[in-house]
Parts: sequence; C-alpha cells; structure tokens
Amino acid sequence: MKKYYVVANWKMNNGLSELDAFASALSECKFKCEAWIAPQLPYLPLAITKLAKSAKIGAQNSSNHLSGAFTGETSVVALKEIGCHFVILGHSERRQFFAEENSFLNRKVLTALENGLKVIYCVGESLQEREAGKTFSVVKKQLQEGLKDVPENFAANLLIAYEPIWAIGTGKTASSAQAEEVHASIRNELPSLGLPTQTPILYGGSVKPDNFEELLNCPNVDGGLVGGASLKADSYLQLCEIANK
Ligand code: PEP
Repeated sequence: MKKYYVVANWKMNNGLSELDAFASALSECKFKCEAWIAPQLPYLPLAITKLAKSAKIGAQNSSNHLSGAFTGETSVVALKEIGCHFVILGHSERRQFFAEENSFLNRKVLTALENGLKVIYCVGESLQEREAGKTFSVVKKQLQEGLKDVPENFAANLLIAYEPIWAIGTGKTASSAQAEEVHASIRNELPSLGLPTQTPILYGGSVKPDNFEELLNCPNVDGGLVGGASLKADSYLQLCEIANK
C-alpha cells in the first residue's frame, strides 16, 4: 500500500508555544503516514526532543560545505549529529530571495545525501512561465541540473516536491489534473536521471484539509509539502488523518 507524506514547512514561523501545542496534540498519535516537520533552525533540538515519537524532524536549508569559514551557514554534519532526518532544498523562496540556482543547489543536494540526510528537492514554475507554456521545460531543467550525478546508493533518500510558485501561499491550489500531469512528467523523467521510479513526489502549494484528499487521489502524488496549513496543530493533524486513510 502506498505510504503518504505530510511534510510541514514552518518557514520563519512558530516558536516555543506552538512547539508545545504540537507536542501535546501529537503525543497520542501513531501515524501510518510519514509525518515530517521542518521548524526554524534554533528549535530543531527541542522539536526532536518533543516531537520525535510521532514525527520526523528536518531543516529548511543546509550548506553545500561541510565546515569552515561560512558565517551563518549550517552544515549537514551538524544537522545529522543533532538527529535531523531530512532537509528541504531548492524551495522557491530560497531560489527567489537568496538567488539559489540549479547548479548551486546540486552541490547542496549531493552534500546532504552523501552525509546521510534525506533531501526534499523542490521544483516548480512561476505564473509567467506557466502562461508561456514553459511548465514542463522549466521543471525538467530544474530536475536535470539540480539532481545531476546523484549517487545510486543515495538515490533512495531523495524526494521531489512539485510546488508551482503561483500556488504557494496564495490560496490558489493547482487542480488535481494540473498537479497530476506535472507529477506524471516528473515520474517519466526519473529513469533518465538515474533515480528510482518509486521516488516520492510531493505536491506543494496551498494544500489544505479540504483539497488534500483529492490531490492524494492522483496516481503520481505521494503526499504534500505544506506551509500555511501546517502551522496549527489541529490543521496539521487533519492533513495527517486524511493521509492515513
Ligand atoms: C510551501 O512554502 O512549501 C508551501 C507549499 O506553502 P503553502 O502551503 O502556504 O502554499
């Protein structure tokens, strides 16, 4: 049976009180789905202590270097050492606000995978690119350049998130047909990238409890990467319950 992922990207939101709220809401939960949460960096150790029984904890970013004079950066070695499970790389906000592009992201992806973290690599087109009919070529380029040379023995630790930029934080979700056609094209691309065809492909972009089930019913959607609707424990739990069914 297919295992679904519900990945919370808290971005620069949620602090101690929300962590406590999640800890009490999740304490009784044994999920069948993969419940993953990415809090802000300073809260990672506490999140691991408080939430690790029900959820896997990961980071929202990591460096392409393992150590050295890179002020403000975070090494995957440190993330692994404190018990992080995964890292999100290539999020459109990193691409847009921090000028991270495919070849740089490729170095981050390889560094994280080679050092034992699972990686959620994000791809997705802007509204302008969609309207110009470039969705498939943009996503293909992000995959080909960002996932170049992933070693075969680490490929099973990779997940892909398709996040159309026009749907992130806008309340505009891609229809299940729009999501499925891009997910199917990503799935078709996997063999040429040397990646397993069962690589999980998550959808992200205004996922909410009332649209999640329809998205999960798409054959090539393996879960959601969720921003806004993951910030409150009750809504995150609802998403996990939908994925558990
Ligand atoms: C995201 O930032 O990854 C995201 C999908 O956000 P939202 O769910 O708020 O659109």
